[in-house]
Amino acid sequence: MGDGSFRTVAVAIFAAALAWQSTCAAQSTADERKLGESFAFEAGAQLPMVRDPEVVRLVQRTGQRIVDGLGPQPFEYRFFVVNDPKVNAFAVPGGFVYVHSGLIALTADEDELAGVLGHEIAHVHAHHLSRQEEKSQFWNYAQLLGMLASIVQPAVGAAAMGASASAKLKYKREFEQEADYLGARYLADAGYAPRAMLDFFHKLWSQERSTSGQAPPYLQTHPLTEERLNHLEAVLRTSQWNRPAKPGPSLELRRAQLLARVRSQPAQDVLRDYQQAVAASPDDAGARYELGWILFETGALESARVTLEQARGMGSKDADRELGRVLLRLRQPREARPFLARAVELAPSDPVAQFEYGRVLEELGEADAALAAYRRAVGLYPDMEDAQRQLGILAGRAGDTGQGYYHLGKAHLLRGEYIQALTQLEKADAQLPPGDEQAEVKLLLPPLRNYAQRHGG
Ligand code: ZN
Repeated sequence: MGDGSFRTVAVAIFAAALAWQSTCAAQSTADERKLGESFAFEAGAQLPMVRDPEVVRLVQRTGQRIVDGLGPQPFEYRFFVVNDPKVNAFAVPGGFVYVHSGLIALTADEDELAGVLGHEIAHVHAHHLSRQEEKSQFWNYAQLLGMLASIVQPAVGAAAMGASASAKLKYKREFEQEADYLGARYLADAGYAPRAMLDFFHKLWSQERSTSGQAPPYLQTHPLTEERLNHLEAVLRTSQWNRPAKPGPSLELRRAQLLARVRSQPAQDVLRDYQQAVAASPDDAGARYELGWILFETGALESARVTLEQARGMGSKDADRELGRVLLRLRQPREARPFLARAVELAPSDPVAQFEYGRVLEELGEADAALAAYRRAVGLYPDMEDAQRQLGILAGRAGDTGQGYYHLGKAHLLRGEYIQALTQLEKADAQLPPGDEQAEVKLLLPPLRNYAQRHGG
């Protein structure tokens, strides 16, 4: 399954950036890719990102399923989640698609998420942003970053770019219709319900009308009109793309929404909603488990423990993982261990379970077993910054300093801390034996040195 998690995103971006520099093929697809890569590199340092595997992998998997239906592409598509409560999504030329946590929280099911991704992928696929801009005025990534930053963080962006900047990112009406049409087709090809895209746009449309002046930011760049909705409705009808029944959120989407909300919204709002869900269905083990997870994420560890124990008592197997994490943070590693061991057994390919199991082993002084668990976590999800960091610390402690610097460097890289990443990776370069990892480091260093120069590092 191609969810792009085999190499870290950052490594792939750097590698591709270098490949581009060396070939110097200056056709427009290459220009777009270069622009997108540079943007993604800067965005990694400047935009707040959601890094939970449960959230990022769902978006990657959904997007990739759509991309897989497109046939051979001039660039790889990559999907990111911006930690921002607003309903927004945007696509950067070259295949870089960003979804905000607020949008994930608003989707009713995976088909609606796929609807937004399909629409964004269509903009990229049809080169809309580049076609919209006069060749001579084609923006560089710094301008693009400023414009997009003005959408993510209005204060920052406005200061850098001026108030009208984000208007430049507004798609033309005919491009919106084309993205609707293409997006619907991609969805059908990928086995998603194309009508879900229309459902989601209707939801945004009614939000815009009911909240005066508080339109979802998504609609500023993707202007929605009654005409556009009617057009999409007609497309769906002539293709007989009906939506038999709304499946409701999958377990994966529910978990992604839980984390997307708790990372970006005020804790008391999120807590209240999950408490209400438990009050409405007191016998629902799943609802109680989710409340326990929210309590854990918001730091209410004692309440989390009680709630998760209740969920377990009601038959929730999933509660083992979170209960183990809670006990670990309550400094009860001995009590936490059996829960996390069961979580790993229940879901061996869950990188979070592997990572937390590693932490409990480390806490209990079993460094070798902890190291192995961190390696499994990183193997399952290379973009897991926590696991890279702990792996680096333990490898260094075990005397393998090359590996230690390498993984610490990766952890900084994933956090967008490029200056610190450079420091660690330069040490790794000096100490790693020749091989894949050293080759990877040699690819990573030049853009990081370039960044450090530009930022006085
Ligand atoms: Zn659009």
